[in-house]
Amino acid sequence: MKLAIVGTGYVGLVSGACFAEFGYQTVCIDRDISRIESLNSGKCPFYEPGMDNLLSKHLNTTKLLSFSTSLSYSIINADIIFITVGTPSRRLDDDADLSYVWSVAEEIGKSIEKYSIIVTKSTVPVGTSKEIKKIIGNIVSKDLFDVVSNPEFLREGSAIDDFMRPDRVVVGTENEKSEKIMKELYRPLYLRETPVFNTSIETAEIIKYASNSFLATKIGFINEVADLCEAVGANVQDVSKAMGIDQRIGAKFLNAGPGYGGSCFPKDVKAFSSTAKKFKVDLSIINAVHKSNQKRVEKVAYKIIQHVKSKSVLSFLGLSFKPNTDDIRESSSIKLANYLQEKGYIINCFDPVAMENAKKEFINFNYFNNAQEACNKVDAIIIGTEWNEFRALNFSEIAKIVREKKIFDLRNIYDESELQKLGFEYYGTGK
Ligand code: NAD
Repeated sequence: MKLAIVGTGYVGLVSGACFAEFGYQTVCIDRDISRIESLNSGKCPFYEPGMDNLLSKHLNTTKLLSFSTSLSYSIINADIIFITVGTPSRRLDDDADLSYVWSVAEEIGKSIEKYSIIVTKSTVPVGTSKEIKKIIGNIVSKDLFDVVSNPEFLREGSAIDDFMRPDRVVVGTENEKSEKIMKELYRPLYLRETPVFNTSIETAEIIKYASNSFLATKIGFINEVADLCEAVGANVQDVSKAMGIDQRIGAKFLNAGPGYGGSCFPKDVKAFSSTAKKFKVDLSIINAVHKSNQKRVEKVAYKIIQHVKSKSVLSFLGLSFKPNTDDIRESSSIKLANYLQEKGYIINCFDPVAMENAKKEFINFNYFNNAQEACNKVDAIIIGTEWNEFRALNFSEIAKIVREKKIFDLRNIYDESELQKLGFEYYGTGK
């Protein structure tokens, strides 16, 4: 089977490399020339554990993976064409911006010459795949293609493993022919007993938004419980643990913190609610989750402002929206640092891999080469992202170089008694 993947970002590149690992000849396409040049020279444009090896293996050794900027040339022989372009929030409202998807659909329509399946892997509102069908169908005969929805659930930071060993694969189709071909595509996973869930296109589109919105709800929920714990002197970590043991609830996504961020949850929660509104359905729970998360940064900032003098120097450890990625899109740590900078605080920072991305956008932060340097002469340390390397910082040494011994452990990765022994004032989340 020959595959073409349009949009070589996190999802496109990981999918492409993993499909090559399954043994499929795969071409990844992107309109960003420098990205394709970098990939053709074996350099991954973002940080993702394991990606460099997989890229090198399939670009240089098996030669199953290739990269191109030409959609029309690359899709001619493809049996399956994936759309994996971004679907960010629109500037003026909460809708998903589908302009990249529409333009790819049109380009595909102008270029296909033999029967292909067009698969939407980007996260798109219900109805989008059918709209793609209309766009392409206006250009070529409907016999020349089928549309399928196959939303992606990989997580940045563990994307390869998630793709190779997913909890489930969701495939929305509208006829047996495309269902059969998709089943064949995912045979390597089927053989590993991965549940492959076949459903309608609309259901598949909704599954993705419902899943992300549900996870965001868990985070929003525990964050508000954390506020109550702080108010009454309870411990949210114990609450989460005891709740999570209940198998009906589950322990994941019950860690209180500075609010959810990243390239998916914020935009997907908004788009889910906004799509529902168009069908006159009020997703009031999801609306509340969004509002609660929006207020989160200000709430956390207020706590810091109460305990740290104005114009102080703050050391932010961690800038990426979560560990093991250099993605800073909608990062809560960065939002908080920005907010505090606007209030007159000076921001020192360090992140193991996200500094280059941050430097491009946030030129007024002071960047340091390691956590210890970023803590020199500061008035408070803020742990914004729970990178493993921040879990064992040498606080006996750090205690000697800070101006004030204050730590805001937004991710609850430290035992407060250990830091208090070293003379630190410790502020966790919800405890
Ligand atoms: P991304 O921004 O990292 O990559 C998108 C790529 O598409 C970019 O490289 C861009 O240059 C390219 N592109 C845009 N228009 C193009 C065109 N006309 N032709 C060719 N290339 C074009 O996005 P991403 O994070 O990979 O997300 C892609 C989709 O997958 C989104 O809908 C997202 O919600 C969804 N998703 C993302 C994740 C994740 O963890 N990042 C996980 C699951 C699903």
